Amino acid sequence: MAQFAVIGLGSFGATVATELIGLNHDVIGIDSNKKYVENISDQLTHAVIADATDEHVLNELNIQNCDAVVVAIGEDIEASILCVLHLKNLGIEKIWVKAKSKAHHMILTHLGVNKIIHPEEDMGVRIAQSLSYPMVSRYMALEDNHYMVKVELKEAQQGLRFHQLMDHATDIKTLLHKRGPDILFNIDPNMVLQKGDVLVVEGLLEPLRRLSKQFKTI
Ligand code: ATP
Repeated sequence: MAQFAVIGLGSFGATVATELIGLNHDVIGIDSNKKYVENISDQLTHAVIADATDEHVLNELNIQNCDAVVVAIGEDIEASILCVLHLKNLGIEKIWVKAKSKAHHMILTHLGVNKIIHPEEDMGVRIAQSLSYPMVSRYMALEDNHYMVKVELKEAQQGLRFHQLMDHATDIKTLLHKRGPDILFNIDPNMVLQKGDVLVVEGLLEPLRRLSKQFKTI
């Protein structure tokens, strides 16, 4: 179990904080707005009304004992930057910050923040991807343009044998096949596919795009 602090409990910060609690971690939530703190206080390990631009306050909260701190102050870029500076002064090594603009991002980069998060843009990319590839229900970007993609088979693929779907996609590796609760890692090329089957595949973006086009034409 690790200890985290989330500063700024708007919709993004509150979601991060409660997800971490769900993963059995200790979370201290901090917000200058009483209403946001009260909304979430019964779900977190501690929830505190405090101004995170005040270094003494952060020090008193023993924030330096946390394994990582997420700064989720959005609109007030000055407050976000001041808060990060104080966290750095307190010696916190792992700082993740939500950025609102390019300028905000640039300053955070110069401050040596470990991870800069753009939740709206990330969500926009995900939505665009799933609109252009409707069979893709989830994907994960790996390093170097590699993706891991969860594909749900539709009526059009029902009755095809696995090799008929995947044989030409030699650059793509099928990691698993799932039907209901059953998961197979070694897939018989002659397996007859059904609507609702799930495939998890891995490959470079271009071969995956070609595969997705082929899905549309089958
Ligand atoms: P979201 O999209 O997560 O709802 P947002 O990006 O619109 O939020 P804001 O609502 O501006 O960002 O800020 C998120 C939270 O940070 C708010 O609840 C706000 O009260 C809190 N906050 C702003 N300044 C400070 C500060 N100096 N100290 C602590 N909390 C702060």
